[in-house]
Amino acid sequence: MKYLSTRGGMEPQSFSDILLEGLAPDGGLTLPVSLPVIDAATLESWRSLDYAGLATEILSLFIDDIPRQDLARLSAAAYREGVFSSSAIVPLKPLNQGLTLLGLSEGPTLAFKDMAMQFLGQVFEYVLTQRKTTLNILGATSGDTGSAAEYALRGKQGVSVFMLSPYGRMSAFQRAQMYSLQDSNIHNIAIKGVFDECQDIVKALSNDLEFKAAYKLGAVNSINWARIAAQIVYYFWGWLRATTMPGQQVSFAVPSGNFGNILAGHLARQMGLPVRRLVLATNENNVLEEFFRTGIYRPRSAADTHATSSPSMDISRASNFERFIYDLLDQDPARVSACWAQLAQEGEFDLSDMQPLFESRYGFVSGVSSHADRLQTIQSVYQDTGVLIDPHTADGVKVAAAYVEPGIPMLVLETALPAKFSETIQQAIGQEAPVPAHLQSLADLPQRFDVMDCQTELVRDYLVRHI
Ligand SMILES: *Cc1c(COP(=O)(O)O)cnc(C)c1O
Repeated sequence: MKYLSTRGGMEPQSFSDILLEGLAPDGGLTLPVSLPVIDAATLESWRSLDYAGLATEILSLFIDDIPRQDLARLSAAAYREGVFSSSAIVPLKPLNQGLTLLGLSEGPTLAFKDMAMQFLGQVFEYVLTQRKTTLNILGATSGDTGSAAEYALRGKQGVSVFMLSPYGRMSAFQRAQMYSLQDSNIHNIAIKGVFDECQDIVKALSNDLEFKAAYKLGAVNSINWARIAAQIVYYFWGWLRATTMPGQQVSFAVPSGNFGNILAGHLARQMGLPVRRLVLATNENNVLEEFFRTGIYRPRSAADTHATSSPSMDISRASNFERFIYDLLDQDPARVSACWAQLAQEGEFDLSDMQPLFESRYGFVSGVSSHADRLQTIQSVYQDTGVLIDPHTADGVKVAAAYVEPGIPMLVLETALPAKFSETIQQAIGQEAPVPAHLQSLADLPQRFDVMDCQTELVRDYLVRHI
């Protein structure tokens, strides 16, 4: 299996070669040259596999430069009880009115990013050890991604993490989660500034190519192909658990921001998984909902991006979106490049003539959920079923409800647990979300982090001293 770029300017490369890179050299995103297709008989033969076994089957289709037995070992290490608090790894939890939660948040940081990141941690360590090299992950986080990366990479050979976070601007739970890590390869840097300023420092240092090469800087952002590949697995898992017969259809509803999660659903569907609809849910930052409704893609400026009560979906542009557009434009890199050139020039592109295909060919539909919807949905689901859902998952449930069809299971991706967002839960049901037993003492653990003024040169000095 080789990989190419959506913009057409990269020689085909193997999985391990693209693993440690971000964007393709031509500014595009990497994708397999062709997608494997899974027939009904193969799909049926996977019903008895556990999660790690299924991950091995699916990931080995995309990763042919790591021996299968090694891949099986990496999957088993990533997806095991102890790392995840459910023996199923991804449990299905029935709600009401035809809806079922796909439990993606049983990992160490209580959010779905652990699903991909835990595998990434294993495969990074494997490839870096094989190549006898090291990597220093430099990133900025406002909460979820940074902590998932740190929990996946803590104690791993050959890799260190330098994570910038906005000082005093994360929730107490998120702070405790990140800053209580004592592993010597994890470095938390609390910047006296906002998230965007942390991001600017990361960009400035990563764009200094000489410095980047000398200090072996890398990233684990949401465009990383290995993360997308690992996410494809749980769509197959969800289908296998929710159906009993070949060809039976299910729909998935996905709370979306950077379009990484639902992109994996699109790829699973293209591989032949019987998916009826992919329901894309946004919050008030509805750039993607607008695209699927109108065909016009119009990212917002940072100033026009609202801070909402489902903060992990507060994005202005969707970093993985180009991979879907590549399929939509018949995998023609010239047309993809033209769209992004237009985006750079005019701030938007218009594919409204293709809008009817979004649903008819690809199963995509979309909807928006507001703060009031979120509170109402959390409250009514809790009242009717006793299940407490987090604000992001509530956006998914709210939008999914409009697309439920008789006889077709609707799986809503549970992207976080409510304990992470207790303020909104308190507002919705008048009480706090329960904290899982193993995390109840988290707030009392000693915290280890360095506070720094918001200056690129200070972070540069820190890297030089610690690498
Ligand atoms: C990252 C995240 C999302 C958005 O996922 P994308 O892959 O960026 O679309 C939704 N909910 C939660 C809790 C997240 O952490």
